[in-house]
Amino acid sequence: MDNIPSTDNHIHVDPINGEGPLEVAKKFHRSGGTAMIIPNKPTWTVSHECDFKEAMELVIKYVDEINQKTEVKAFAVVGVHPAELSRILERNITILKAEKMMQNALKTAQDLVLGDKAVAIGEIGRPHYPVSSEELEAHNRLLFYAMGLAREADCPVQLHTESASERQFQEFAEMAKKAGLKEEKVIKHFSGPFVLPEENHGLTPSLIASGDVMREALRKGKSFLMETDYLDDLKRPGAVLGPKTVPRRTRKLINSGLITEEEAYFIHVEKVEHIYGIEMGF
Ligand SMILES: [Zn+2]
Repeated sequence: MDNIPSTDNHIHVDPINGEGPLEVAKKFHRSGGTAMIIPNKPTWTVSHECDFKEAMELVIKYVDEINQKTEVKAFAVVGVHPAELSRILERNITILKAEKMMQNALKTAQDLVLGDKAVAIGEIGRPHYPVSSEELEAHNRLLFYAMGLAREADCPVQLHTESASERQFQEFAEMAKKAGLKEEKVIKHFSGPFVLPEENHGLTPSLIASGDVMREALRKGKSFLMETDYLDDLKRPGAVLGPKTVPRRTRKLINSGLITEEEAYFIHVEKVEHIYGIEMGF
């Protein structure tokens, strides 16, 4: 194997609905992958709803397993998916109470980051489906609250949102500024090729590692992260890119001359270390 590092900035592992941490990490490693940044899955995919702490502790456990039993370096990201709020509201719980539950969960996430169990708070943000304006306002308040927690913990947030373009990037950048969180600490998960500063307003785009997105992005710049959003859910094959995509795409881009090995190192190591404040050891 060559020594080109590659980091998947948003990949899930799920031993209940999918193959689980070790199988996914081994597949990733066989295709040349070196680091996985793994957000916890929503509570309804792992146990009964609303046990937010349990969902977060599970991903930390999976990350430990990967670090102990494979050659992949894994890092946990913990948070509450915005869809959790919608699900709480479906149970006729008041918005005030639901918001409090979400806040408590975000605080738990911050505690785990402060205890060095996780490297970021995520995925958090807004639903990708339409909701009432009342609910949307609650999501925005929670997002702002989470950005404040991230500032205190000096860590990034990973955003899950409706499909975002320049206008949303600008909105999130302004929110971050108000919360005192550096814009670059706001990672937009599942991002299109918004690589120019005037497109992403200083946020860190985590690009879907498809050929089209990468080619368009590389015409504009090289400052971004790469991800698959792999779900590790056997019932939803092909819903997103597979776990081998980031290392394979990176090699293809190098072989076709679209990026150099040094640029790949920047994307997969230096940029990741800088944004998360971690040491990858490559
Ligand atoms: Zn995700």
